[in-house]
Amino acid sequence: MSDLDLHTALVVVGAGMAGFAAALQAAQAGHDVILLEKQSETGGSSAMSGGCLAFAGTDLQRANGVEDSNELLFTDLREVGKFENDESLVRAYVDHQLDTYEWLKAAGVQFGPHIETSSGQSVPRVHNVDPADAVRALAASARRTGRVRLLTSTRALRLVRDPRDGRIVGVTAQRDGSTFTVLGSRGVVLASGGFVQNAELIHRYAPQYNADTAVFIGGAGNTGDGLRMAQQMGADCRDMIYIKGTYGKHPTDETNHHSLLAVYKGAIAVNQDGKRYVDESISYKLLGDACIQQPYGATFQIFDQPIFDSGDNQTRILDIERRHEEGLVLQADTLEELAAMIEVPADVLVDTVRTYNDYVDAGHDADFGRAHLVHQHGKLVKIETGPYYAYPSTAAVYGTYCGLCVDAAMRVLDVHGEPLAGLHAAGEVVGGLHGAAYMTGSALGKAAIFGRIAARTALAG
Ligand SMILES: Cc1cc2nc3c(=O)[nH]c(=O)nc-3n(C[C@H](O)[C@H](O)[C@H](O)COP(=O)(O)OP(=O)(O)OC[C@H]3O[C@@H](n4cnc5c(N)ncnc54)[C@H](O)[C@@H]3O)c2cc1C
Repeated sequence: MSDLDLHTALVVVGAGMAGFAAALQAAQAGHDVILLEKQSETGGSSAMSGGCLAFAGTDLQRANGVEDSNELLFTDLREVGKFENDESLVRAYVDHQLDTYEWLKAAGVQFGPHIETSSGQSVPRVHNVDPADAVRALAASARRTGRVRLLTSTRALRLVRDPRDGRIVGVTAQRDGSTFTVLGSRGVVLASGGFVQNAELIHRYAPQYNADTAVFIGGAGNTGDGLRMAQQMGADCRDMIYIKGTYGKHPTDETNHHSLLAVYKGAIAVNQDGKRYVDESISYKLLGDACIQQPYGATFQIFDQPIFDSGDNQTRILDIERRHEEGLVLQADTLEELAAMIEVPADVLVDTVRTYNDYVDAGHDADFGRAHLVHQHGKLVKIETGPYYAYPSTAAVYGTYCGLCVDAAMRVLDVHGEPLAGLHAAGEVVGGLHGAAYMTGSALGKAAIFGRIAARTALAG
């Protein structure tokens, strides 16, 4: 090893929600950490996210009259993942979520007063934060411990193995053109996010999502480095076939990169022919898949004034009013006029809405079986009180939500299911929690919860 080598207890790669959670957890337990971030700024996808976190049984839910429990959260996570997710990871999320919610608050993360219901949730479970502030709060708490050394503009390149026993003991890293080694006596936590910015890797696993059918949004540094570094060591991966776009992104607008899910407030989704094509209450990842199979991969969310009014300006993905102020929502007094604006056949759109309203009255959607606003929550509403609105919508890939196989202690597993000694992972680089689809708030939740578990395991090892 050269004089330039750095030594610490724990090496953490990536300074988003998962990396800061791991670093802070380790520092609070009295251990030194070196946290590497390849970008000049910290935050990754976490800081630019919608700021929704999924927790159950919180004080905020109680204050909003919402009854929730670990068991219901467990059932919802398994169900929305179509039971393709790893039960032990879902259990780890559930068992550590409430404690992590309190821990985040103690670390200075502030949750807004509103609780909303979104993808995959049977009860209102979306806890809102300002995502950039949340990362800043964790960073400040980490700094205050005096034990976390943050190196920005520093890219981890390769994992380093101890030649004597094969244990992973650090990384090689690059900063300002020079390469050096960072060694951790307790090993490494990979918290390097997903690979939404790596078009070649996305194409390899999800060729159906490409520049013609979808939009790609996420942290600029999220190119799959951690995934590749661990694969080089023999790590296994899972859920790669479940990369999906999230429904509700305006296809051309570049000012607001968040999706809008008016469907979860009662809107219907129609294609360019003016026809419904899906049960709008399902996970917005599955809605994304359904959308890109429609002509031009573009559709419209259609709603009326009461649905517009039920939007929530505290939750980015339900904030209809803001999209309206941004000029992204089309408005007309009649459905016929709206159809002309979005260039779908007026008679078909009118018939689609009438048929849907009949289904709402009858309590049975004979075409797609929609029974709720979202997942198992909310009574369907008719679309009948003008003015009427259309929100052009495609699918945006905001994250990859698949990746390294880990056990419930966040030890990275090799292709034979054996832990790679010294190597841990957390956050979006990890596969197995979400399975086939996705619950809103479970990615940021996973980053915080699994980041803490990874640090604890590394320090105990
Ligand atoms: C627009 C948008 C909205 C979203 N909304 C939500 C939401 O409301 N709720 C939710 O749960 N999820 C949401 N997500 C997904 C969620 O934000 C991410 O899954 C989560 O933040 C991932 O956290 P992370 O810490 O694992 O990764 P990130 O926050 O992406 O952090 C990873 C960091 O690692 C760094 N890095 C990568 N490679 C290296 C390397 N070789 N060396 C050093 N550093 C490296 C990156 O630069 C990055 O800063 C959203 C995502 C986007 C893009």
